[in-house]
Amino acid sequence: MTSTNDIRRGFLDYFASQGHAIVPSAPLVPQNDPTLMFVNAGMVPFKNVFTGLESRPYVTATSSQKCVRAGGKHNDLDNVGYTARHHTFFEMLGNFSFGDYFKEQAIHHAWTLLTDVWGIPAEKLTATVYHTDDEAFGLWTKYLPEERIIRIATKDNFWAMGDSGPCGPCSEIFYDHGDHIFGGPPGSPDEDGDRFVEIWNLVFMQYEQDANAIVGELPKKSIDTGMGLERVAAVLQGVHDNYDTDTFKALIAASTSLTGTDAEGPRRASHRVIADHLRSSGFLVADGVLPANEGRGYVLRRIMRRAMRHAHLLGAKEPLMHRLVPALVAEMGAAYPELVRAQPLIEATLRQEETQFRKTLDKGLKLLDEATAGMVEGATLAGETAFRLYDTFGFPYDLTEDALRERGLSVDRAGFDAAMAEQKRAARAAWKGSGAKASDDLWFDIAEQSGSTEFIGYSVDVGEAEVV
Ligand code: ATP
Ligand code: MG
Ligand code: MG
Ligand code: MG
Repeated sequence: MTSTNDIRRGFLDYFASQGHAIVPSAPLVPQNDPTLMFVNAGMVPFKNVFTGLESRPYVTATSSQKCVRAGGKHNDLDNVGYTARHHTFFEMLGNFSFGDYFKEQAIHHAWTLLTDVWGIPAEKLTATVYHTDDEAFGLWTKYLPEERIIRIATKDNFWAMGDSGPCGPCSEIFYDHGDHIFGGPPGSPDEDGDRFVEIWNLVFMQYEQDANAIVGELPKKSIDTGMGLERVAAVLQGVHDNYDTDTFKALIAASTSLTGTDAEGPRRASHRVIADHLRSSGFLVADGVLPANEGRGYVLRRIMRRAMRHAHLLGAKEPLMHRLVPALVAEMGAAYPELVRAQPLIEATLRQEETQFRKTLDKGLKLLDEATAGMVEGATLAGETAFRLYDTFGFPYDLTEDALRERGLSVDRAGFDAAMAEQKRAARAAWKGSGAKASDDLWFDIAEQSGSTEFIGYSVDVGEAEVV
């Protein structure tokens, strides 16, 4: 079996052999883009190279980029534990051409690596193209029968850096895991199933956009691709589910052994959430993010606390997450030395957060049980109760949602937002009542605009640019 570490290496080696510079992953906190919460695609560190603002000593590059999708435009947090293919933290393998090769070579490289180098049977692959992209359609006919090249008219197959700047059609490659799994090909009514899994997205940066309208062709057409390492590892290891790959099996083995539970039935999702959130927490702390009540730190706190509730569900009587860090470092420390360096900090941070959260977790869960006793499937929890759980017991909104999901209950989001707004209003009134000057109003406004309230953690949509 090829290990995930070997697959990462194999990808980078293939593109290096084709003249690409191997570029190490950038940190998860974006260095060149204040509008983005976390790096969420391989192209992010190269944005300025694509627009021409920055030049580098190479025209083609390859990387395995750490990504987090747990907030903003790409938020996969709610999928984790419940789909076979989503993580909050994952690695995006990519090859990039900055005005060098274009569509034909990009498709050729993808096909050669998947089928020749890695030996994936051609009949397992399907490609999508943007509906008007006859050029890409034509290029794919060299490799695939026409019925497995699917024209898609939605935004899924058209990429743009933002309202202005480079944009262009994309072509996604799907792997068919077989008809024993529910799901239909892309573009079909059942496409959201897990049978056809998108493994690789090829973006053809072709046009220049201004205020959302295409204004011309780019002088230097470019390529940006992204492939989920965990998804291709599942394919190459002959499993359907990312959580059955070597890396995740090792992490789940650690949590089953430390909790003395198996990963069957209702415990399956818990172990998956714990393994996934261990990775995102560990990598975020290693890149300098610490739990906080606002901004990036609040996204991290939500992730950590959600994992901690699942540890509690599994019956862990003591803080668990920090004891899993050695398994994470054993799996991923060689590829990411920052994890080894930060190990003591990751452990201490997880331990402290879990110790603190445990003080209120039990009481909060009890309140939640009482509030939902007698509620039947399909019912909705009052927003005010969710707000009390947040305010008094430190339950992030999505933790409450996650806790109710297993029982088919939902939360009244609007009611929660209203309770939050009311608390802010009251705080503001109290502030005014203390004889403060009118300029304090301004302070509140600035605080809200700059997003420095605890609220930003989960409502953040900072208008980040669309990425791969
Ligand atoms: P999906 O439709 O499955 O959510 P996507 O279209 O949002 O994927 P892209 O933005 O095209 O994904 O990212 C490029 C590649 O990164 C995908 O083809 C996939 O292999 C991988 N990927 C995207 N999101 C995740 C995730 N949350 N966890 C693991 N891999 C991911
Ligand atoms: Mg997605
Ligand atoms: Mg997709
Ligand atoms: Mg995609």
